[in-house]
Amino acid sequence: MALIDSHAHLDLEDFAKDLDGVVARARAAGLERVVCVGLWRAPGSFGNALELAARDPGFFSATIGIHPHECAKVPEEDWARHDALARDPRVVAVGETGLDFHYDHSPRPAQEAAFRRSLAAARAAGKPVVVHVREADAVCARVLREEGVPERGGVIHCFTGDAAAARAYLDLGLFISVAGVVTFKTAEAIREAVQIVPRDRLLVETDCPFLAPIPHRGKRNEPAWVVETARKVAEVWGIPLDEVGRATTENARRLFHLPAPSAAPQGAPPA
Ligand SMILES: [Zn+2]
Ligand SMILES: [Zn+2]
Repeated sequence: MALIDSHAHLDLEDFAKDLDGVVARARAAGLERVVCVGLWRAPGSFGNALELAARDPGFFSATIGIHPHECAKVPEEDWARHDALARDPRVVAVGETGLDFHYDHSPRPAQEAAFRRSLAAARAAGKPVVVHVREADAVCARVLREEGVPERGGVIHCFTGDAAAARAYLDLGLFISVAGVVTFKTAEAIREAVQIVPRDRLLVETDCPFLAPIPHRGKRNEPAWVVETARKVAEVWGIPLDEVGRATTENARRLFHLPAPSAAPQGAPPA
């Protein structure tokens, strides 16, 4: 079965000790690729997502972004660095950016300004955008309408809205990505939203190390467990798991311009 974890934070400390094991389990679970979200951490640092992608470009891809939690702390020169990194051919998307009105770690006006700026960076770089939105669907959709979705499109990652919110994002041409939250008992509204998402517009992700799906809830999440999210989508859509894998994998490849894994190992002589 094909699967892509379209959103993971594998460059965080949580994975420093056993990344090789995490990757081995992901491959064994059928994953062909993991998109590592590279975020601003501290002045001068965007973490190590790009280094992971450079080390194993056949398995990792990287994004670059400034999270709404941190956006108020980012010095001007790091915005310049962000915009330059967005143009790096190894970077597949800008983000995650967006709005988080649940935690409000940054003032809302600062979040909105940073979101608009990140959309402009994605547009300028010709990259899709990865959007984080929590308890802010109405404002998020309005900003996207006002700014315009970048030409290369985008995805609402870790979607936690309802069917109306999903409809608004779909109408804007965006993909919807669901995480382990969709497996939670209380997530009926999210499952109703998944029901209206067309087969060619859904991605799956872990957002690991956060939000481990049932039956792993409460543990450190990892890419291999994206299969539990795909399994729940299969149940909601009423189709086999491997069809969900195939559809969401094709969608992730299309959005991020990811290469399909080559049938022959690289460097193999032609048959
Ligand atoms: Zn997020
Ligand atoms: Zn994330």
